[in-house]
Formats: sequence, C-alpha cells, structure tokens
Amino acid sequence: MGAFRDFVADLLDREGAIVEPVEPDGLDVLVPEPLRAAMGWPELVHLGFGAQLPPDAMPVGLEGDWLDRFGALLGDRGRLAERQLVLPTPVTPPSDPERRLEAALDLRNAIWRLRDARPAWTRCMLLAFRYTATSDEQREGLIWLGFNTATGAALEDDMVGRLRHLLAGDMEWRAPDPAVRSEAGSVADASMLTERTQARLDHLVRRDLDPFLRAMRRRLDRDCGRIHVYHADLRRGALTKLAALQSVTGDKAEADRVRERMRVAAIEREYAGKLDDLRHNYALRVTVDWVQGLVLFAPVHRYEVLIRRRKGERIVAIDWHPAVRMMEPPLCDWGPGLERARLVCDDHLHLTDLAGQAPCLSCGKAWCRACQGPACLRCKRTAASPTKIR
Ligand SMILES: [Zn+2]
Ligand SMILES: [Zn+2]
Repeated sequence: MGAFRDFVADLLDREGAIVEPVEPDGLDVLVPEPLRAAMGWPELVHLGFGAQLPPDAMPVGLEGDWLDRFGALLGDRGRLAERQLVLPTPVTPPSDPERRLEAALDLRNAIWRLRDARPAWTRCMLLAFRYTATSDEQREGLIWLGFNTATGAALEDDMVGRLRHLLAGDMEWRAPDPAVRSEAGSVADASMLTERTQARLDHLVRRDLDPFLRAMRRRLDRDCGRIHVYHADLRRGALTKLAALQSVTGDKAEADRVRERMRVAAIEREYAGKLDDLRHNYALRVTVDWVQGLVLFAPVHRYEVLIRRRKGERIVAIDWHPAVRMMEPPLCDWGPGLERARLVCDDHLHLTDLAGQAPCLSCGKAWCRACQGPACLRCKRTAASPTKIR
C-alpha cells in the first residue's frame, strides 16, 4: 500500500493540505477549506492504508469509491508529462549495426544499405488508452502504445513495456533540457501519428478482447441452443396434438385445431422474441479513451538507411535505444506494422505491411494503399481495412 499512500500524500499536499506520515501506514492530514468541502472531511483527518490502522484512522483503499474521489480531485492534471530519459551509465552502441539492422529490416522487394550512424536525441510518445467492452459482461483494459516521432516508427509492445518498467523504477525524473528538446525536433506530422495510432490501437484492443469475445460467443451459442431446444419441444408437442386432431370431425375438434395452430404461432413468436432479447443482451459496445501520455526525450543511436527499389531511393532513420538495448522496427507507412516484413512501393517507396501492396481481390491488380488509399484503381473496389472495430 506504500505507493498508494505516497500518491495520496502528494495529491493532498498539492491541494494545500499539511500531510504527516504516521505508522503503521497512515497519514495525518490538516485539511484546508476547499479540500474539506470536496472530500467531505473535517479539518483534521487520520487516514489508514494498511491492514493495520493507526488509532482513529479512516480506512482508505483501492476498493469503494476512493479512486473515483481522488480521480475527481486530480481532474485532468497529470495526463500528459514530459521527461528526459537519463541513462544511469553510458551504453556503447552495437559493434555490429548491420547485423542488428538485418534482424529488424525485412524488406521483401527492395535492398538497403547503411549510410550513416550517429548518436542523437529523439522524442518518443508513450500513450495509454483505456478500453471498455460491454455486452452481457464487461471487460476493461489498458493499452500502451509507443511511437518514435522522429523516425515515425511504432515501438513494439515489448520495448514499450521495458521502457515503462525502467521509467517506473528509481530512474531520475528530469525535465527535458532545452538543447535536448531542440535536437529531438518537433512532432513531424500529428495527423499521420493519429492515423497510425488508430490502426495499431484497433488491432491491439481487438487482440486483447479476443478471449472475452470468444467466451461471449460461447455463452451466446449456449443460450441460443437452450432457447431453441425448449421451443422446439413445445412446438413439436403442439404439432403432435394437431396431427392427432386432423382425422377427428366435429365442432369441438375444429375448435381444438384452431387452438393448437394458435399455440404453434405463439411459440414461434416467443422464440423470435427470445432471440431478439439475446441479440440485445449480447450486443457489444466498445469504447476506447486516451487516458495518459508521456513525451519521452530519449538518447538513441540513429542509423540512416538508404532503401533502393528499382530506380527509386529513400532514406529512413532507424533508432537503436540504449536504455533498453533494442533496435526499433522500421516505420510502416500503412497498416499496424506488427509483423517485421515490409513491402516497398514503386512510386514513393512507402514501407507498408504486406497487405498494403496486396492485389485486388476482384481484379487482381496490386496497388500501394499508402499512395492510393483503400480503393482499387482499376475496378474501384475497396479492400477491407486491415483492422477496424465493428
Ligand atoms: Zn480491382
Ligand atoms: Zn506508396
């Protein structure tokens, strides 16, 4: 509970309270007026965070509405921060950059050559998104995305995880030096970043939700099956009675037949209604919201790579990140870029996922989605987008 107590102590301190740690695992707080009203507290409160409470302490924990109340106090503050990554010790760049690049770059239809290598500062964005999926049950989760805004590369999950782990440790928190900030350059293309974030985020949310969706489909199938069996039995019963009445004559038999036919119709209506209820019950709604971001100024070793495709040439930058000793993947101009393989287009040498240059499913003509968009140039048919939440 130590981290939570520290967080609450910091937050209350920023709200003007005088906060004194007491053992075991508590805080004595002298509460100023606006905060008293916001939290509904008297002038002096004793808060306890552990299993064992200090005398007279009010228990504070992750359960109940405490997180919501502190969240309301926090408001929008703390959602975006800037930080310079400080390496605790110098790290020598790889002695075999070509081999490292070989492992990171898998160009299926182009060649490349290392042109230059030098230390640099870059600007990475680490962004957290919360998704909520609601159907008959609810599932929530957090997705972290990382981008190197200087090279345009999306950082792999593993790399983002390692960076976050490192930053959450006892690494010094330093505000970015002006010189570092200017060397890292500005965010090249915000709309491009947004577009790539979207593609990747859709994919990752979908991947995270996959087990939840499969379990939901199993429950839906099971419920549909039960309803079907129940109504099929009822209907069969009514139809059997009806068949038995077919050969009987007289007014009473006719009235019975009418009644059984009405019964069959009612069973069918009820079955359709029950299926509608199920569809409604299991309808899936997914919301995704940005919750937090960190602009990280990080030292890197930058490789300039010349890419050649037919007569075209393009230079791309690929960074090696000494903090996690990892080479980032090459940028991807189209698609979520989760696989290593890239195709290079003839006209602008875009690097895309394999699907980004795939042939049209109707007419067979291949085209670059980064150049021409999603519709086939020849027959105007639109290929399915690689990832979109439906
Ligand atoms: Zn076509
Ligand atoms: Zn292209």
